[in-house]
Amino acid sequence: MENSQPTILSILSLPFEENTYIAYFEQRTDCLVIDPGLEPDKIFAALDAKNLTPAAILNTHGHADHIAGNGAMKQRWPDCPLIIGTGDASKLTDPTGNLSGGFGMNLISPAADQTVAEGEELEIAGFRLEVLDTPGHCSGHVVFIVRNSNPVQVFGGDVLFAGSVGRTDFPDGSFAELKQSIHEKLFPLGDETIVHPGHGPATTIGQEKATNPFVGVGAQL
Ligand SMILES: [Zn+2]
Repeated sequence: MENSQPTILSILSLPFEENTYIAYFEQRTDCLVIDPGLEPDKIFAALDAKNLTPAAILNTHGHADHIAGNGAMKQRWPDCPLIIGTGDASKLTDPTGNLSGGFGMNLISPAADQTVAEGEELEIAGFRLEVLDTPGHCSGHVVFIVRNSNPVQVFGGDVLFAGSVGRTDFPDGSFAELKQSIHEKLFPLGDETIVHPGHGPATTIGQEKATNPFVGVGAQL
């Protein structure tokens, strides 16, 4: 595993303003691509500009705006494994489950090459990642924690945002579960921990503990 600090690029995909992340160590040519969205050409351009080849595609969950680029990624790099939480794997190939049917898109992703769940560790592209189950926004949501980074960093998907939280009004959503995931899985990671969310700017656990109106210390919900 690498001892240096990873570089993390954020690429915004419209129309849902979804963040795709490219994460890599400067001296390497392999990388992670997290939640490739609806504008894969932007991801390709960023990868090509840095001469990076993805070693894995990670999906935090199976909603359309986070998986729409999987197909283009797999078309260009067929051997690159697509990894998603066990509970959301079926959404990849189910337009109702991934919510694209509701937008008239009927989007289908390639199927997962690997599924992961609570406590699993992945060693890819110099990263040591820990998987945590974080249901609430949807039942099969996972986050990927970069353990070999100081401070620790999290690819958090649609769980905890800067000043907000993921929606819980979908069929398999639950605010009680979301709050529990944040309080029991994310907050214990420590105040310095950097969260890279699926929408909006990066934040820290300490910042959200102190100020988040939905799950922070002042939240009344
Ligand atoms: Zn989502």
